[in-house]
Amino acid sequence: MKKNITLTALCLSFLFILTSCAPQNTAQTATVFAMDTVMELTVYGDGEVLRDAEQLIYSLDAKLSATDEHSEIYKLNRDKSATVSADTAEIITRALDICKSTDGALDISIYPVVSAWGFTKDEHRIPSDDELSELLDSVDYSKISVDGRVVTILPDMQIDLGSVAKGYTGDRVTAMLRERGVESALLNLGGNVQTVGTKPDGSNWRVAVSDPAGSGYAGIIETSDRAVITSGSYERYFEEDGVRYHHIIDPKTGKPAASDILSVTVIGESGMMCDALSTALFVMGVDRGAEFLRENREFEAIFITDDGRIYLTSGLEDSFTPSGMYENAEIEVLNYD
Ligand code: AMP
Ligand code: MG
Repeated sequence: MKKNITLTALCLSFLFILTSCAPQNTAQTATVFAMDTVMELTVYGDGEVLRDAEQLIYSLDAKLSATDEHSEIYKLNRDKSATVSADTAEIITRALDICKSTDGALDISIYPVVSAWGFTKDEHRIPSDDELSELLDSVDYSKISVDGRVVTILPDMQIDLGSVAKGYTGDRVTAMLRERGVESALLNLGGNVQTVGTKPDGSNWRVAVSDPAGSGYAGIIETSDRAVITSGSYERYFEEDGVRYHHIIDPKTGKPAASDILSVTVIGESGMMCDALSTALFVMGVDRGAEFLRENREFEAIFITDDGRIYLTSGLEDSFTPSGMYENAEIEVLNYD
């Protein structure tokens, strides 16, 4: 009996030595379902830091979801004024800045319109023009006030952070991983990719850009320490009588943005900014979008348009390689020099 216990103890301590010596460059992976999407985390570090990353994602989702009855955003939408956590106050404040700088192409008070089209419950319908114009009366981000941690909205208003929450979450997880000494990680938050450092061998991460008109890839971006975030009409849509109705709404019309863009990918250091901008640039279309990028040079972008072209900001010329159907596509470089 005693011999058995000693043997077990020996085995356990051997196992402990094995696990505690797990090298930093072992890939730990997890699949997380949060924010209405499947997320894949690959972290070169120990299992504990990966579990903490998962918990951080779940806790942010629990605060920011517009549909979860226990979330802070749900309560704000119901009560029209609420004291929220520092995270929620921060994300709303920063989102409002971007609503302003994009001249309302991004508007987090668009939620009642998104709901009217049925995108929040996957019960799709086409609202009438009268219904939309009535709903648009209370869409106006400039009427949202944040005073410390007290957020107040108009009586008929509801807000939705779906356009920025995954990017914000990517930033928060990235900061936590760096603090804990992780030098290499790839966070794929439902197509919104955040890269931490480089691959363990020092080479760049290779991030695929989906083909918005098909099922494969339109190309590969090589990057490190950057967010690579895409908005596209292919991500969420329904079709009726041969017309496609997608989930990115033009706040001026209340209808799916009549954009010449099929998808726009924004690359930069801040996931939240890239997330907000990918949604806003989609609404703006290529011309206004390119103009916006001229004034905001810290972001790189790839536009794929409905005529099969690719527009690239010049910083991506050496890091983007088109593939599949796009290998021979016309590529126009947006050069601002
Ligand atoms: P994204 O996938 O980041 O482009 O975000 C799209 C989501 O943001 C949609 O599913 C809506 O919930 C919401 N949304 C749609 N249009 C807008 C808009 N113009 N401004 C802010 N949020 C929007
Ligand atoms: Mg977005």
